Amino acid sequence: MKYYSTNRQSPAVDFKAATIKGQAPDKGLYFPERIPQLDPAWISELNSFSPEEIAFRVIHPFVGQTIPDEKLYQITSEAIQFPIPLVPVSERISSLELFHGPTLAFKDVGARFMSRCLGYFMSQSVNQQKVTVLVATSGDTGGAVASGFYEVEGVEVVILYPAGKVSPVQEKQLTTLGKNIRAIEIEGTFDDCQQLVKQAFTDTAINEKLFLTSANSINVARWLPQQFYYFLAYRQWKEKDHSPVIAVPSGNFGNICAGLLAMQSGLPVRHFIAACNANDMVSDFLSTGEWKPRPAVPTISNAMDVGNPSNFIRILEIFGLQVPALKEKLSTCSITDAETMQTISDVYAKFGYILDPHGAVGYLALERHLATNASAKGFFLETAHPVKFPEAVEQSTGVKIEIPSSILHIMQKEKKAIRFQPDYTQLKDYLLG
Ligand SMILES: *Cc1c(COP(=O)(O)O)cnc(C)c1O
Repeated sequence: MKYYSTNRQSPAVDFKAATIKGQAPDKGLYFPERIPQLDPAWISELNSFSPEEIAFRVIHPFVGQTIPDEKLYQITSEAIQFPIPLVPVSERISSLELFHGPTLAFKDVGARFMSRCLGYFMSQSVNQQKVTVLVATSGDTGGAVASGFYEVEGVEVVILYPAGKVSPVQEKQLTTLGKNIRAIEIEGTFDDCQQLVKQAFTDTAINEKLFLTSANSINVARWLPQQFYYFLAYRQWKEKDHSPVIAVPSGNFGNICAGLLAMQSGLPVRHFIAACNANDMVSDFLSTGEWKPRPAVPTISNAMDVGNPSNFIRILEIFGLQVPALKEKLSTCSITDAETMQTISDVYAKFGYILDPHGAVGYLALERHLATNASAKGFFLETAHPVKFPEAVEQSTGVKIEIPSSILHIMQKEKKAIRFQPDYTQLKDYLLG
């Protein structure tokens, strides 16, 4: 399988080169030259395969021979080595719980898969070159990347995060691992962190000395494995005569884009809803046809505060750049903070189920869609554990959430981070030093 750049000015590359480079030299995103078609008989028999077999079958055509099958099977299995249950919440709505991984967020699947692929490619390099993953985070990306890359040979990780703007659990996940994972606390905003990272990527002095790569969802090795859990959800979907409606809490649109790709490969889906908070420029695009990025506004579902979602271009590619075809399968829904809080409260009161703010946005978007589609049923993606957003959840439900035992130990560990001003020279000296 080759990957072309969505800007069409760079040569096509294989999975290995696309993973190592991250973004194409012409600043486009890599996209597979064809969408594999899965056998419908296999899909109707999903229940008879293990999650590992399913994930391997889904990813294999995208990786090709760049990783030996046996190794790929191992990487794939490790990426999904935690429960991914589809839990009924109400009669017509279920929750696909993606928060049982090591950092309690869906990003664990993509980060674990990517880290192991990159580790494998580095182990094969003749001159034993090291790669430095440089990443800015508003919370969840950093934790998943830190955990995924921890102790991966040949890979150093540097994470920038905004001081005081990530939750206590998130901060511990970034700052307590040590070894090949280093955290830098920036006295500024997420945008400052992002800006510093972008500057480092274009700095020739740094790129002569270090081999830098990124680990966000523009990387194919983080984006593509996100298809796994759509198939694993369908494996648990009881009513095979009625395809599910799927609502995906969306920020950078990587997660929903993976779902749409899975659908185009043959996964039965009735409709997709991109559930957004106040940052809903894609809605405007679908109604006006004009792409108008705007600065992100802060909300309580802060992992979705994205004003210019980079993966949307891939969604257009999936539909051959045909917006009418896209609109038949995808709609958007924008939910306010007040509605998010009310939803967390209502769903707890009615069904005893505790949503996090991101899942709540997905739940309400799905409920609204189902209200006008009487025969439909569906599920939303619960993208993070409620304990990662304790304030909103405790305020709406009155429930104090227990920290899961799987992460209790890190809460006791000591935070280790360097603190910088949002000043590029400081970062540069540090990276070169
Ligand atoms: C990253 C994230 C999202 C948004 O996912 P995208 O792939 O960027 O659309 C939603 N919820 C949570 C909890 C996240 O961490």
